[in-house]
Amino acid sequence: MGNVVVIGAGVAGIQAALDIASHGIHVDLIEREPTIGGHMAMLDKTFPTNDCSMCILSPKMVDVSRHPNITIHTCTDVEKVEGEAGHFRVTVKKHPRYIDETTCTGCGDCVLVCPVEVYNRFDAGIGVRKAIYKPHPQAVPDIVVRDQEHCIECGLCYDVCGPGSVKREDTEKEIVIDAASIVLATGYEVFNPKKKPQLGHLTLPDVITSLELERMINAGGPTGGKVLRLSTGEKPKSIIFLQCVGSRDMTVDRPYCSCVCCMQAIKNAILIKEKSPDTDVTICYMDIRSFGKGYEEYYERAKALGVRFLRGMPSDIIPDKGGQIVQVENTETAEVTVMHPDLVVLSVGMEPAPSLATLAEKSGIPLEESGFVKTVHDALDTTTTLRPGIYVAGTAVAPKDIPDSVSSGGSAAMRAYRDAVAPVNTPYGTIPERPEPVREHRKTARSRSE
Ligand SMILES: Cc1cc2nc3c(=O)[nH]c(=O)nc-3n(C[C@H](O)[C@H](O)[C@H](O)COP(=O)(O)OP(=O)(O)OC[C@H]3O[C@@H](n4cnc5c(N)ncnc54)[C@H](O)[C@@H]3O)c2cc1C
Ligand code: SF4
Ligand code: SF4
Ligand code: SF4
Repeated sequence: MGNVVVIGAGVAGIQAALDIASHGIHVDLIEREPTIGGHMAMLDKTFPTNDCSMCILSPKMVDVSRHPNITIHTCTDVEKVEGEAGHFRVTVKKHPRYIDETTCTGCGDCVLVCPVEVYNRFDAGIGVRKAIYKPHPQAVPDIVVRDQEHCIECGLCYDVCGPGSVKREDTEKEIVIDAASIVLATGYEVFNPKKKPQLGHLTLPDVITSLELERMINAGGPTGGKVLRLSTGEKPKSIIFLQCVGSRDMTVDRPYCSCVCCMQAIKNAILIKEKSPDTDVTICYMDIRSFGKGYEEYYERAKALGVRFLRGMPSDIIPDKGGQIVQVENTETAEVTVMHPDLVVLSVGMEPAPSLATLAEKSGIPLEESGFVKTVHDALDTTTTLRPGIYVAGTAVAPKDIPDSVSSGGSAAMRAYRDAVAPVNTPYGTIPERPEPVREHRKTARSRSE
């Protein structure tokens, strides 16, 4: 029986790894960050149930770390993918953590004494972290990482660490892993609103992204769960959400819908209204896409709580004394509304993870024009890539919410498992019949109708 390599440990990769491992197959789970969990670990609640995101994810992260059939490789990138289905050789590079992973207890004493504070990517830019840090309290593995680039070598962490786990020197390590099959689950990146400077992100302090709002609303986040104006530190009296930022927009080469941003804006509007009913909340949208189970009812719940839905999008956000002006033409009534919100939230869309293009080239798998992974069929099989033995899960295929990411992780897992128990091109197993590439399917369908 073969081994499976899963690349990317967000909720989709975690699900794939758990499903494969529970069938008795060993999994090497490769994650480039110091912790597994991906974007779901950054979220506060999840729609449409308002379950606490980490309360659902954390047990899965712990299950992965304790599973006898799973080896987690954090701070690790894929260098090379050689071989073929049934006999891949995946070369990975483990970046130095500058911590002895076998002795660090994750006590955090070193973090307390470290004098250096730097921008915290996990808090989406609105918080700071130390030069030695744990990405978040429920990180897996539950150990710290030393950021050599920002460390000033003051030596305080070496002195305070009881087990002597902080390393002065550390090196990159290359590991070669044999795999019968591979699952790519590299996830997404949010659209960078810098590409739409007219919306004022980073030039107007009270224009934030939806991911930054998630961190703000999270009790474990940089503002302790309080939604605040970054300009004054005060509670905003009025908030506007702008939908489809970096989605359905040809001016930034993003023609597709990002699927989750309508629902995540509704979710955060509900959370704000429930906590603070006097806050005026408006969602400016082109269309509301509430397609999933319980989603339409969730949308109705937001309306009942007093969230205003305004069909129309402003072309820009105009700076004003002590705030900003948002002017919107309601496309249903042709009425123009001018608003002076205290806070504007840009509901940024999803893009493929930045590393995906290079990884796809190394793995020999074709991508769609959008940059997401191409699969053998857009409707019947959205987890098999065009290279035999390599499968794809979660938002690496296309924008998805958590339930769909988890299902696709399970689906990719079963295909990868099949290859691992019946290795392809070996004397011990059969060669599974593979569907033709998608172009061929399309040609056949067209020629039939002609
Ligand atoms: C603001 C916001 C709010 C949201 N709220 C909700 C919600 O309430 N409910 C809901 O259902 N969905 C929500 N979503 C969507 C949800 O975040 C995604 O559906 C889900 O996180 C996708 O999981 P994933 O595993 O596909 O990707 P990710 O979570 O992106 O995980 C991918 C992992 O792969 C790693 N990786 C990337 N490249 C490499 C590489 N080359 N090598 C190794 N590792 C790599 C990354 O570091 C990451 O850990 C929200 C999204 C946003 C932006
Ligand atoms: S490096 Fe040392 S002080 Fe820091 S968390 Fe690990 S054991 Fe604790
Ligand atoms: S040596 Fe570096 S990481 Fe350690 S406490 Fe000093 S600045 Fe922080
Ligand atoms: S989900 Fe809603 S906000 Fe997001 S791109 Fe689609 S229509 Fe726009």
